[in-house]
Amino acid sequence: MQQNRRDFLKWSSLFGGLALTPMQLSSNLLKTSPMVIKWAGCNVNCGTKCPIKVHTQDGIIKYVSTDNEGKDEFDTRQARACVRGRSSRYKVYNANRLKRPLKRVGKRGEGKFMPISWEQAFDEIALKMKETKDKYGNEAFFITYATGSYGSLLGNCYGSLSPFARLLSLYGGYLNYHNSYSTAQITNAMNYFYGGSPASDIATLRSAKLAIFFGANHVETRMGGGGIGYAYHKALEESNCKIIHIDPRYNDSCIGHCDEWIPIAPGTDAALIAALAYVMIKENLLDRKFLDTYTIGFSESTLPSDAPKNSSYESYVLGICDGIEKTPEWASKITKIPSRRIIQLAREIALTKPCFIEQGWGVQRHSNGEQNARAIATLACMIGSIGIEGGNTGCRTGTSIYYDLMTIPCKNPIKDSIPCFLYTDAIYRGKEMTDLSDGVRGTKQLKQNIKFIFNISGNCLTNQHSTIKEVNRILSDESLCECIVDINVTRTPSNNYADYILPDATTLEQEDFILPSAGYYSNRPYIIYCQKAIEPVGEAKPIYEMCIELAKRLGIEQEFSEGKTQKDWLKYLYEESMKKNPLLPNFEEMREKGLVKFNPVKPVVALEDFIKDPINHPLKTPSGKIEIYSNELAKMQKTWKLREGQQIVPIPVFESQREGILDPLKEKYPLQFYGYHYKGRTHSSFWEIPQIRETNPQEIWINPIDAQARGIKTGDIIQVRNDLGIIQGMAKVTPKIIPGCAVTPQGSWAKYENGIDMGTCVNSLASIVPTAISKGNGQHSILVEIAKV
Ligand code: SF4
Repeated sequence: MQQNRRDFLKWSSLFGGLALTPMQLSSNLLKTSPMVIKWAGCNVNCGTKCPIKVHTQDGIIKYVSTDNEGKDEFDTRQARACVRGRSSRYKVYNANRLKRPLKRVGKRGEGKFMPISWEQAFDEIALKMKETKDKYGNEAFFITYATGSYGSLLGNCYGSLSPFARLLSLYGGYLNYHNSYSTAQITNAMNYFYGGSPASDIATLRSAKLAIFFGANHVETRMGGGGIGYAYHKALEESNCKIIHIDPRYNDSCIGHCDEWIPIAPGTDAALIAALAYVMIKENLLDRKFLDTYTIGFSESTLPSDAPKNSSYESYVLGICDGIEKTPEWASKITKIPSRRIIQLAREIALTKPCFIEQGWGVQRHSNGEQNARAIATLACMIGSIGIEGGNTGCRTGTSIYYDLMTIPCKNPIKDSIPCFLYTDAIYRGKEMTDLSDGVRGTKQLKQNIKFIFNISGNCLTNQHSTIKEVNRILSDESLCECIVDINVTRTPSNNYADYILPDATTLEQEDFILPSAGYYSNRPYIIYCQKAIEPVGEAKPIYEMCIELAKRLGIEQEFSEGKTQKDWLKYLYEESMKKNPLLPNFEEMREKGLVKFNPVKPVVALEDFIKDPINHPLKTPSGKIEIYSNELAKMQKTWKLREGQQIVPIPVFESQREGILDPLKEKYPLQFYGYHYKGRTHSSFWEIPQIRETNPQEIWINPIDAQARGIKTGDIIQVRNDLGIIQGMAKVTPKIIPGCAVTPQGSWAKYENGIDMGTCVNSLASIVPTAISKGNGQHSILVEIAKV
């Protein structure tokens, strides 16, 4: 699948890469061409969207540096790119870089391709599009969920934001998706709870006295200077507040500032919250005034009139509805947190104001993820630390201001939509999928199976999906999805399953905007204009140009382009955005400067207006209040068709669903297992860069207690297995992971040899079964056994 070193050297010398012959080297030494500096940006889905400075000479990237304007202070901080963004040069000149259009030869999935011309690629793809439309209708087209170039304006890969979405919309439409692989469970859960996901800016942490983070690891996930990781550090330095991280893993956000790490068994957060509530109820520590004024369903007195008796959260905690009191001792057996610490923690949280409560997105990525997310938000309500400076709603921290740029217009005439995680289901049983059984939206039942896929800058086609072997089986069957077109800058495990691979240009090789970040840069917005540092390597081209060529062949060129070039669109979209935001400099100034930073704004305190005046600022929930008991979920409980073992409960109870801590499958597979974000990759992006792989080795963490029981030492090659597959990798024995659990960084590229994933991709072991409410990816609920090879 990957090109070998000899190929790399050949390509590099052909296209001005890193490898130079001695003669080239000596002539280069004599050159005196000036170094040219252009701005570009990191557009992967860590979300921070850091600017990078690209230093070129004679059209070749010599090195990449970063923003160095401003002081190292909170409100004037530099948006410094992390090691991933700074490795962009290696992304451009890479052995896996795609340089020519490729067409599959041999069976799908074998990974055999031959180079073809752009003309042939466009002609054949357009013909297959026409055939698909004629035979199956437009509902058979699908653009997969993908985020590899999520940060770009015209180079965007994401659903309706991509030029491909505009192309397909003008061609008659395509099947939509909703949700994301990052946030499906928490977003849906918070919609039922708050009517959205209100969250305070991380900068408000400066006013907190206590901060509790549930599975939140900003420092490794978003470590650039413009993002939350750095803002988290600075805010904590300034506030000097006490920090507690509740996480199965001692993550890097705990280093330096954390006062305490409380290890918790994965997926058991709702049990901990129930026990904290128990202590607060028994010791009269609840903020009853807050609960009675702003929420419904905590106590019997605030339940909706049509809710059954004893269905409140308080009744659940006290065991009135099920006969089980949710005592600290009860929770201790589930969470593995000592009951004494649970009691202390309840008192500490209830008596320290303001208390900043935040959850990351790992907590919700479980088979019971929606309940965990709602339970943590309930904790924030129990102490009334919402709507005040230094408090938070329990959601992931938010942004203070949006400097949105208008994206390319796209109006899909088809409204049918699937949860993105169910795309493989829609390939083989799409016409069976309904609103009540599969969370389909816009229609009661799908009209067509997926027959034609565009996968743009994405690795969710296989690698970031679940049960990779099963996905590979579905995609390999050419009678199901009949055409797969993959667009990327690099070879990936996903484009192994493509029929055509089209080489995309990076942000260093085209003019484009990096979209202003939403929710990551805290209160200091900036916008980046990529100034095109070099010509695209090989025959790579921007996806807008690919779309124009396809539009020509489909007879919709004028409608698609409106006669505009990429630069024309950038100017038009920017100037339209300027009408809404007078602070934006004019287009030519923006283009000339490349990076424009704006003055800091007042950090947002979530739900401030609602707390001050709930009558005139109601929430977007049916009651206008915070819904600890959700009537909508109560209705779904009665009408939705769920998978075996699943349930929907209107209050955030602890439930151990598929592969949870109480699953009987634990007899066979006694260890919990999941993938975490680490410094070496953003999801699966940057795996292709060997220098990054070398400095951030793919290890499988296992606690010394579990390692000793299995005779495993650090450095041993081990296999992790369950009924879905086997992955192999290197052990790291460390007390930084709770006993009974093992972890490995997510996003590693799967590589199967004799049925074993030697690439150590955690998703080879993750179930393809979606969660009950959102139909999202509960990929952190995995039970396994581990053995030395
Ligand atoms: S923090 Fe994110 S956006 Fe910034 S350089 Fe690193 S990976 Fe890229």
